[in-house]
Amino acid sequence: MRSFPTSSPENALLAAILSELMWRRVPARAELGRIAGLSETEAGERLKALERMGAVVVDLAGNLLAAYPLSAVPTLHVVDLGGAAPWANCAIDALAVPAMAGRPGTIRSRCAHCDAGVTVDVEGPRITGARPETAVVAYGGLAHCIDRPSLEGRCPYINFFCDLAHARAWKRPGGWQGRLLSLAEAVELALERFDPIIEIFRHSPVAPQA
Ligand SMILES: [Zn+2]
Repeated sequence: MRSFPTSSPENALLAAILSELMWRRVPARAELGRIAGLSETEAGERLKALERMGAVVVDLAGNLLAAYPLSAVPTLHVVDLGGAAPWANCAIDALAVPAMAGRPGTIRSRCAHCDAGVTVDVEGPRITGARPETAVVAYGGLAHCIDRPSLEGRCPYINFFCDLAHARAWKRPGGWQGRLLSLAEAVELALERFDPIIEIFRHSPVAPQA
């Protein structure tokens, strides 16, 4: 994300979109004004501003694909919040979702090397469990996957792995540059990166808790 929204109508729209994506509901363009308490014209303008900031991704037809950290299309990273179970764009995005929702969550993802399940329990800034316990995150490429191929559902840059050996054996996308993080390091990075979005979401009058 290049920057984050500062004006309150943009915050309201972003929070409203995120609260819909929490429940895997993808608001149509025509609904944005109603859910954010804005006129349709203003909602359209604010959506464009959010897009320019890199806070949301919209396809050529105007359909919402993502509002970071959440995805509007199925991905490898599901964050089970004990009710809501949104899709996250990548491993780092997934780790920020429980703090944003204000409740514990369990991330269900897959090792990008061997496709085995990787499950991570997160409570705010703390990792409270992981299966396998050796799981790590490869973090690199584009910080927020903003140029990921639309609808691919697999961010090629930021993934979970069973362990260091699988992260090192991973066939990386061409040009990938990055580093391997422990889960504790990864959740710390996630909360640092998403702090502005977490604040916007948690303090918005229109965003119900997940
Ligand atoms: Zn693996």
